[in-house]
Amino acid sequence: MHLEKRVLITGGAGFIGSFLCERLLEAGATVLCLDNFFTGTRMNVAHLMGHPRFELMRHDVCFPLYVEVDEIYNMACPASPVHYQFDPVQTTKTSVHGAINMLGLAKRLKAKILQASTSEVYGDPVIHPQTEEYWGNVNPIGPRSCYDEGKRCAETLFFDYHRQHALRIKVARIFNTYGPRMHPNDGRVVSNFIVQALKGEDITLYGDGSQTRSFCYVDDLVRGLISLMETPDSVTGPINIGNPGEFTIRQLAETVIDLTGARSKLVFRPLPQDDPKQRQPDITKAREILKWEPSVELRDGLSKTIAYFDTLLADRNMKV
Ligand code: NAD
Ligand code: UDP
Ligand code: UDP
Repeated sequence: MHLEKRVLITGGAGFIGSFLCERLLEAGATVLCLDNFFTGTRMNVAHLMGHPRFELMRHDVCFPLYVEVDEIYNMACPASPVHYQFDPVQTTKTSVHGAINMLGLAKRLKAKILQASTSEVYGDPVIHPQTEEYWGNVNPIGPRSCYDEGKRCAETLFFDYHRQHALRIKVARIFNTYGPRMHPNDGRVVSNFIVQALKGEDITLYGDGSQTRSFCYVDDLVRGLISLMETPDSVTGPINIGNPGEFTIRQLAETVIDLTGARSKLVFRPLPQDDPKQRQPDITKAREILKWEPSVELRDGLSKTIAYFDTLLADRNMKV
């Protein structure tokens, strides 16, 4: 007999997934965390292992899965350019085959299913800030396409299963998110800058550092995802979840230097192909429908993330 809600989190041993596991356990759910450990690690959920309502399962979402759950958060997919470009064919497979399998599972179980989509569906946007109505400006054949188009196709599958099979779907378009448990070598800007600053290395700005991003602290993001899952069935999204505070990459570098007290220099490297020039979510829908908005300021979130990496690097004797 199952009194509590059973929740499957694919990619649950990753950065965002591990916080989702934690919050849902706190809320009383039974959590099945599924991961193939491509970018996630057991370490991210080690503190949950003894929990009576927590289970960790090694599995690749590209293969069918037969379990019994009430809700599915489909988070499985490498998220940083370095990792998703390492094996781009596998990245598209994870998004597309993974979505088909998880939607098939949800269909059989009549379970609610949430997709971790991304601001990358907007590509290099010509509308600013980005609203959910914007169809995006994505290169279909570039080095970022395996991720962007894979996620776009997953959205298509979600909406077709909704229309064709009346599935209860929720699509969240997640904007750049940061916090503890980011992979130290995953190449994303926040982890790169913090690790470089703590090690006293040069801070690598790609291009001239004038491109912008809007950074959301992981606690805020996870609260938004759970609020979306709890909306009435009529709410499908897509819905932007992110922090509208927009910063240039140079401002981010300067803030990290300020907060760490590092003596690192700024150095300039070539801008990667198809790197979006600007990105800022319009979160009107999230405010109205989810009654959600982010509450953690960039400096506060960065301080917590710096403290995490400081301990991690000290443990590994990587600090100067
Ligand atoms: P992450 O790399 O830390 O987590 C992804 C997890 O998925 C990892 O644990 C990885 O091992 C697992 N995984 C990858 N391929 C898999 C497969 N085939 N089968 C099973 N597990 C697999 O990244 P994250 O930042 O926590 O991202 C989580 C989700 O949120 C991803 O879907 C990502 O696209 C989305 N997202 C993240 C951001 C962000 O800024 N972090 C922004 C937009 C969207
Ligand atoms: N699937 C799964 N678990 C289930 C049910 C389905 O992994 O409990 C997978 C299976 O691989 C299937 C896919 O989801 O091919 C899509 O399922 P659907 O029922 O939509 O289509 P099918 O391919 O079965 O006609
Ligand atoms: N970036 C940078 N230096 C780094 C890593 C990234 O200047 O060491 C830039 C990158 O070119 C992009 C921005 O920071 O313009 C955000 O990069 P990230 O990979 O974190 O996310 P995404 O490009 O997917 O939004």
